[in-house]
Amino acid sequence: MRLSYDLLFLIPLTAQLLLLLAAAWYYRRRRPLRAAPRRALIFRCTRCWKIYLDQRRIPLSRCPVCSVLNEPIKR
Ligand SMILES: [Zn+2]
Repeated sequence: MRLSYDLLFLIPLTAQLLLLLAAAWYYRRRRPLRAAPRRALIFRCTRCWKIYLDQRRIPLSRCPVCSVLNEPIKR
């Protein structure tokens, strides 16, 4: 039996694509469910213009440089 050149090209290509799909399916199922990470709020100091993050969900955060209370920047 002689294989045509089209089949010689298509069979390995199909096999590789199926292998990739199987790997994607496997790793997608394997990934553990984790809670969405809490997004830190971004603050910009009104006195010294330092930009800093605060993980706590608070309306006002104290600047680490000059201790002024600042509101978070809207995202
Ligand atoms: Zn400051």
